[in-house]
Amino acid sequence: LPNPQQPDATTESVCGYCATGCSLKVHLKDSEAFNLSADANYPVNLGMACPKGWESLAPLKATDRATTPLLRDASGKLNPITWEEAMLEMITRFKSIKQRHGGRALSWLSTGQIPSEEMAFLGALCKFGMGMIHGDGNTRQCMATAVAAYKESFGFDAPPYTYQDFEESDVLVFVGSNLCITHPIMWQRVMRNRRNPEIIVLDPRRTETAMAATKHLPLRPKSDLALLYCFARLLVENDWLDNDFIQAHTEGFSELKEFLLNGPYDLATVAELSGLDQGAIFEVARMIGSGKRVSLWWTMGVNQSYEGTRVAQAIINLALLTGNIGKPGTGANSITGQCNAMGSRLFSNSTNLLGGHKFTLAKDRSKIAGILGIEEDCIPQEDSWAYDEILEGVERGEIKGLWIIATNTAHSWINQNRWNKLREQLDFMVVQDMYHTSETAQMADLVLPAAGWGEKEGTFINSERRIGRTRKVSRAPGQALADFHIFQLVAHYWGCGELFNRWNSPEAVFKILTEVSKGQPCDISGIKDYAMIESEGGIQWPLPEGTEAFDTQRRLFADGQFFYPSGRAKLIFEAPRKLPEATDVEYPFTLLTGRGSSSQWHTQTRTGKSDVLRKLYPAKSYIEINPKDAERLGIESESKVVISSRRGEITASAHLTPITPVGSIFAPMHYREVNQLTHSSFDPQSRQPNYKACAVQVCKA
Ligand code: SF4
Repeated sequence: LPNPQQPDATTESVCGYCATGCSLKVHLKDSEAFNLSADANYPVNLGMACPKGWESLAPLKATDRATTPLLRDASGKLNPITWEEAMLEMITRFKSIKQRHGGRALSWLSTGQIPSEEMAFLGALCKFGMGMIHGDGNTRQCMATAVAAYKESFGFDAPPYTYQDFEESDVLVFVGSNLCITHPIMWQRVMRNRRNPEIIVLDPRRTETAMAATKHLPLRPKSDLALLYCFARLLVENDWLDNDFIQAHTEGFSELKEFLLNGPYDLATVAELSGLDQGAIFEVARMIGSGKRVSLWWTMGVNQSYEGTRVAQAIINLALLTGNIGKPGTGANSITGQCNAMGSRLFSNSTNLLGGHKFTLAKDRSKIAGILGIEEDCIPQEDSWAYDEILEGVERGEIKGLWIIATNTAHSWINQNRWNKLREQLDFMVVQDMYHTSETAQMADLVLPAAGWGEKEGTFINSERRIGRTRKVSRAPGQALADFHIFQLVAHYWGCGELFNRWNSPEAVFKILTEVSKGQPCDISGIKDYAMIESEGGIQWPLPEGTEAFDTQRRLFADGQFFYPSGRAKLIFEAPRKLPEATDVEYPFTLLTGRGSSSQWHTQTRTGKSDVLRKLYPAKSYIEINPKDAERLGIESESKVVISSRRGEITASAHLTPITPVGSIFAPMHYREVNQLTHSSFDPQSRQPNYKACAVQVCKA
């Protein structure tokens, strides 16, 4: 008898959730995906996938998919309209705003969830075609700090590692990263390490990763920068340095040494500040200084901070001081969040010009104009505002029209109640999304129905710089279109379609990206086409034209040459700053936010559609509180509590657990309420929001 589970065909596609970039084998019947499994041959996941990956098809079948454009009428109701009506409405409203207030009055907010080809098209359309200046991505909320840190330290935004480094380290140091649940397949790569490594976790909470580590340093929230400087000082004091590497490949060592030895970074002072044992700090510094292969990893606990760039650079400094870079099992390694945050960093064309060029440099504008065949004066001469600056522009009444693509600002942006007021300032807001039910889509004047992961073609770039293919394995429902096709429609109706004649398919745009990257550190001109990416199992950048043979696992800086003209990396430092909002008598708890479970993703717009995933985490908002604090406040397990900050008040269940330290509470970011509490403060170098520490009060409901 024929087996009903037997697929007609199987194809591979990189997962559309996190930046690990696992490959999934998608099984098709009648050209429609009906099942999937993990790809055993892909060098990233080696046959593994996490719960989100296994459930990737569920969000496509959700009943609340946006299947037709929707326009809000005078009574406030969203009504179905045709694509032509939608385009005419959007273009008329946006052109009218531009005519009255100029291109600066229009802006867009995008995402790290769409392929590089779509990101590049969006940025080119908005800037070169529609005359906008300001647009940014939700990658500002997760990766901007790593970008700023790498750019200043290395001369280009370039995570140096390959996943094999997880398996080849003797000492792995995780700073502000709960890898076990945030990047479960990367954690599996750590578990494959056969070198009996030391795994050190720096985190205020005893997270899943901290429990599995060989050493956990539960430092006080945001004492990380001083602690990292203390490690560096101990390296200097004990001469646990790679002096040859420092001499040959870095600059700023004597200034850093003076800063460390003359500042308050001695063992006793930092132990007092961080709440850690002096012996434990010394021991970790010794491991970093004397380990053969030391790798240092960080993610949101560092990035989402008011001084995140300097913390990231303090981590980078440790790798540079000990020569732990460019060799197997080493590196100062930022772990990326979204499936294509790395694509956004290189090609989104928001603050950087395509391929990491600078809008402010005439030679870069001229190069890009030449390749694209457009007039140079189409390209703005200034960088875009960052996300928070765009929203401030809305607040000041300077931005009147906003186009939001595949992101849920109303849930995810910091200090949410402020965003709700900003919405009222806008003349016209367009939301382009898979679902008409997201909090942001529900506030839109116009909703454009978009295809999701699995319903379109393109490429993603993962955390280790690997470009992988994502494919169409299912038809989008109703009239929903790939974002790529929506951008083509907007270009046509705006009247700038001829600028994008060459941009006629995702693969044609990929070819453009290979051309603009030429000569840049991210040069991918050696990638001929999509077929080459598929046959190689993904390709890490760079791959310049003429590269004949290349390893499938490549790291940067093997030759000790960094991207500054001198070839040297910079040792950058700055004294720690005060918390933007410290605890006090009125608000005595530090609120820590983060990922709650490997089954949840961001604002749950997709993971919330899976029956399987919903069983793996609590349905309603909860906080974690230490049992000692709970006892003092008379809070019982699973009882309701009220959490308030100077910006808002929410109710949630109390999970009593010693994972969260006394004096702090933890709230998963996946529940909408949480960002009513968070504080609008930002890292000055990266403009990344400080989601990780603000002052709150907790009491029984
Ligand atoms: Fe997808 Fe990330 Fe899970 Fe891999 S670890 S299956 S990329 S969500």
